Amino acid sequence: MSTFVDLRSDTVTQPTPAMRAAMMAAPLGDDVFADDPSVNALQERIADMLGMEAALFVPTGTQSNLSAIMAHCQRGDEYIVGQMAHCYRWEGGGAAVLGSVQPQPLAHQADGTLDLHAITDAIKPDDAHFARTRLLCLENTLGGKLLPFEYVQAATALAKEKGLARHLDGARLFNAAVAQAAALGSSAQHEARRMAQCFDSVSVCFSKGLGAPVGSALCGSRALIDRAHRVRKMLGGGMRQSGLLAAAALHALDHHIERLQDDHALARRLAEGLHGISGLAVEAPQTNIVFVDLHGDARARAPDLMAHLADSGIRATGLYRLRFVTHLDVDAAGVDRAVAAIRGFFPA
Ligand SMILES: *Cc1c(COP(=O)(O)O)cnc(C)c1O
Repeated sequence: MSTFVDLRSDTVTQPTPAMRAAMMAAPLGDDVFADDPSVNALQERIADMLGMEAALFVPTGTQSNLSAIMAHCQRGDEYIVGQMAHCYRWEGGGAAVLGSVQPQPLAHQADGTLDLHAITDAIKPDDAHFARTRLLCLENTLGGKLLPFEYVQAATALAKEKGLARHLDGARLFNAAVAQAAALGSSAQHEARRMAQCFDSVSVCFSKGLGAPVGSALCGSRALIDRAHRVRKMLGGGMRQSGLLAAAALHALDHHIERLQDDHALARRLAEGLHGISGLAVEAPQTNIVFVDLHGDARARAPDLMAHLADSGIRATGLYRLRFVTHLDVDAAGVDRAVAAIRGFFPA
């Protein structure tokens, strides 16, 4: 048993021995000259999986989203985005700072979606007073929530009809695809592709649930990826023998997609284990993230709970709203340990 059960994020995973072996065996070149065979293979593979023309391997999901926004938009354009979306709230304002692209954030509905009327109302007329509305950004999963597929279809169809480009921040696209496939009796690959086909660009993280150490891919048309390539260079994201990292991502695509359902099952196990504790409101997880809100006395004791969890070797984030994320390096015993630590803190 490891000392810690680390439920802070699915980014904390260590590359497995098999992934490390794949990295060590990877053929390498200089990707700035476009001749790293492993990077080229990864880009072709992910583009192909999602039914896109081309893909670009980038160091982070943040750079992937920013490259997408800057490839879709010019200075003085704007993108419609959710208040809690990563590419609005969690990226240091990069689109505004570096791209001179203005966000138009909208409140989320309870299920994580953006109201279609609110999207329509946010699209500005062609008038010198206004920024030019150019892009709709959705995120799936969003805080672990799977956007209903009918909604994704409707929102992206609306955007297209209004002349907006559509970007998906699919950092956890494969978590969404696995959950959607389970609900529909379909395959994760099929659902990932169907989802991607609703968008002009899709960003996917390899370093979250897929378990690679570094890297994301931006996928889209050849022309869009060519523009994003220039942006990546400007942002300092051109890498050299990055096939070492691409090989890890390729290994993840081969071996770590289907197993995301294990993470989802562990999240349910955690939520069920916490069910019924007074003062704790546990949201039923749809994928690999469990949120727990503390109320009343439990809320007052939140700092003590966090100290108790730390002493018990359980790592999570939040205070009054705790977040637990399951992943490749957590097993049922670890989840049970987290449940026992929390139950031990609250009187039965
Ligand atoms: C993690 C994440 C990103 C990008 O994260 P990086 O740390 O920059 O790789 C983007 N969007 C979402 C939804 C994420 O969860």
